[in-house]
Amino acid sequence: MYDVIIIGAGVAGMTAAIYARRAGKSVLVFETMVCGGQIVNTTRIENWPGDFGVSGTGLTKKIFKQMEELGAEIKYETVMDVEKYKDEGFVIKTEETEYLAKTVILAVGTEDRKMELKREEELLGRGISYCATCDGALFEGKAVAVVGGGNTAFYDALYLADIAAQVYVVHRRDKFRGDAALVKKVRAKENVEFVLGFVPEEILGKEKVSGLKLKPSGLVKGIEGPRELNVEGIFVAVGKKPATDKFKKLVELDENGYIVAGENCTTSCHGIFVAGDCRTKTLRQLVTAASDGAMAASEAVQYLSNVI
Ligand code: NAP
Repeated sequence: MYDVIIIGAGVAGMTAAIYARRAGKSVLVFETMVCGGQIVNTTRIENWPGDFGVSGTGLTKKIFKQMEELGAEIKYETVMDVEKYKDEGFVIKTEETEYLAKTVILAVGTEDRKMELKREEELLGRGISYCATCDGALFEGKAVAVVGGGNTAFYDALYLADIAAQVYVVHRRDKFRGDAALVKKVRAKENVEFVLGFVPEEILGKEKVSGLKLKPSGLVKGIEGPRELNVEGIFVAVGKKPATDKFKKLVELDENGYIVAGENCTTSCHGIFVAGDCRTKTLRQLVTAASDGAMAASEAVQYLSNVI
């Protein structure tokens, strides 16, 4: 039986592993595919203290190395379920087998929200993308749209502006969730046009995307439509949703699916802790993910010393 099993090897999960190992606990981390979480798709990070401009993969490698050198185990298996085990601890069921742990830290992050348009799924990889750094190169010299007004949309637009001939940022309001400094950088790009007050209505094109039909969102005065953009790529950046569905029997979730927890990262279930973007919080950033990882691990260590 492990002292701590951590589900998810993003920045939150890896930081939790570092803290739990430094406290002398046995630690197993589960990751489905690639460590690093959302940052692996980020080419340049400007808000991680002490490493200005580091790439997402570069930062992941550094944190991973630290976690490995401290002796955390990692298994690339998908966790399907977590249940209470007898009187003490938990059984973690993966696609392959089962593991036991005295405590569990859920650091499962979030997944991309969809536009919920017809043919969005069918045209995935044929013009529809959720990752500019993965697919941007396919649109060299072409026109693309980025949908959304958050940091992801603006990082995507900035990245794509250096590859595509024309980038349209389509956003339903004329105010942005994205950081002002980032929005300013995007505005300075000559080949970026802001299309504000519109929402996507229809994806055009048969075999692959050939355009995007927009309608007024009704959130900005004086906008009349519809409007059509001749684009071959549509980068969807309309937010994230927590990947917590599997755990809804175990811990309390809020109405949007986030695991209910305060700054101490304890959940409604004794012995289960949460870290990172999948918990209720106001600021979802790398630094707060790392902070959660440290806090969840310290709480788990405290729990172990009280229980055992
Ligand atoms: P987000 O901040 O939630 O932004 C989502 C955007 O999509 C919002 O502008 C929202 O519009 C729009 N939207 C949502 N549903 C829509 C719909 N059905 N149709 C049209 N537009 C829709 O999501 P995110 O940009 O993916 O960022 C997620 C979190 O990660 C944030 O906390 C962000 O700060 C963080 N992040 C940080 C960095 C960084 O600092 N390096 C990089 C990327 C992401 P409204 O504004 O009108 O709601």
